[in-house]
Amino acid sequence: MSDNNEFLTDSHCHLDDEKWGGDIEPILLRAKEAGVGRIITVATRQGEEGALQTLKICKEHDWIRGVVGIHPHDAKIMTDEILAKLENIASSPEIVAVGETGLDFHYNYSPPEKQEPAFREMIRMARRLGKPLVIHSRESATRTLEILDEEKAWEAGGVMHCFSYDAQVARYIISKGFYVSFTGVITYPQAVKTREILASLPTEKILIETDAPYLAPVPYRGKRNEPSYVAIVAKAFAEIRKLSERDIMRITTTNAARLFRLPMFLNPQVAYVIRNSLYLNITNRCTLSCKFCPKRKDWMVKGHYLKLVGEPSFERVMEEVQKFDLSSFKEVVFCGFGEPTLRLQFLIEIAKKLREMSAKSIRLDTDGLANLVYGRDVTGEIAEVIDEVSVSLNAPDAKTYNSICPSRYGESAYEEVKNFILLSKEKFKRVTATVVGMPDIDVEKCRKIVQELGVEFRVREYNEVG
Ligand code: SF4
Repeated sequence: MSDNNEFLTDSHCHLDDEKWGGDIEPILLRAKEAGVGRIITVATRQGEEGALQTLKICKEHDWIRGVVGIHPHDAKIMTDEILAKLENIASSPEIVAVGETGLDFHYNYSPPEKQEPAFREMIRMARRLGKPLVIHSRESATRTLEILDEEKAWEAGGVMHCFSYDAQVARYIISKGFYVSFTGVITYPQAVKTREILASLPTEKILIETDAPYLAPVPYRGKRNEPSYVAIVAKAFAEIRKLSERDIMRITTTNAARLFRLPMFLNPQVAYVIRNSLYLNITNRCTLSCKFCPKRKDWMVKGHYLKLVGEPSFERVMEEVQKFDLSSFKEVVFCGFGEPTLRLQFLIEIAKKLREMSAKSIRLDTDGLANLVYGRDVTGEIAEVIDEVSVSLNAPDAKTYNSICPSRYGESAYEEVKNFILLSKEKFKRVTATVVGMPDIDVEKCRKIVQELGVEFRVREYNEVG
């Protein structure tokens, strides 16, 4: 396995399927060649047979982990004996989830009155084993959600695979802690709605999968699918979210590792890449204590872990920066999970060095409170070495600002942020004021204030970092 999280994870395929003709090794080799570092294989063959075959595959390949359970199509075969055998297999460490289970009222290969009890049994099994659920749900959204609620499935965690419902369903299950998984369907020309939904969901709750040997993406549509094609799904996802393919690999692999409780790398990142920008994380200290701050819940940003162990030295930052080819980035950004200007002199020294190293552009993401912290105007010093500044305005007035971004400066902080923006306007090549699009924030009012300040305006998505 790689020494970072930048590899592909096919979070749902069926390696026990008879369509492979009994030999999966060539398929696995092609998957590795395509950058797939982890596969989650879901038993398809009915009952114990598929589960045992899945377990065997996992035991033979330490980068493949399994899921066993009763598919809604097979619900009619459920007996107490099969349940007991499946639970025994599902308790193996190589088996990381229970499923795929759920309801399929499209095909109804098993009658609904058989599907529901099987689904409930699978949820109970997952909760007993402390493993997440892999949900298959087709034309049965309402009943699926009712049963998930009634059986307290949210406690087990899980993913709704091959997502085919609307954004409301996606947001509901995400609010309950579940993940949503997308297949190569996102490459189909007519799948406009699915792409719109994918574009609107928080990236840290999304998995990608092939569902191989089924549902091959374009240009293999109609042919046998295989795990290597998860690279095509990742590419399509990257285009939809305007992220890089590396970003998507890292994000979805981290998400899958979290869901299935698999190992992942948690090295604190001092220098990290998102899209075509190199970010520097030089402190985790903040002047503000923002109510919406993502680090209250999670130190991961787009698959990068940002909780520092002590603040990095000049040498450490440079050592990290030198791992990259600076000329390949459109910009270097002081950002991370903290306020960079709290290390003002350090920030200036690093920025000077980056200039010497011919960084194309240097940006500072800041709370705009540095003048208050230092008791003087520091915008000129910063502008000598930084090209662009992005200031978090966050609110349309001082009272709201202080309620969502409290600090020891109270309501006076807000006017200082506006003043920082005004002072910056003449000094930096580009100044942007931002707000987080939180439900209670009057974004239009903020936009007007920013227009009056005469700088650019950007709304940052709530619950989406990086
Ligand atoms: S300034 Fe940024 S990192 Fe600091 S508390 Fe606010 S949102 Fe979090």
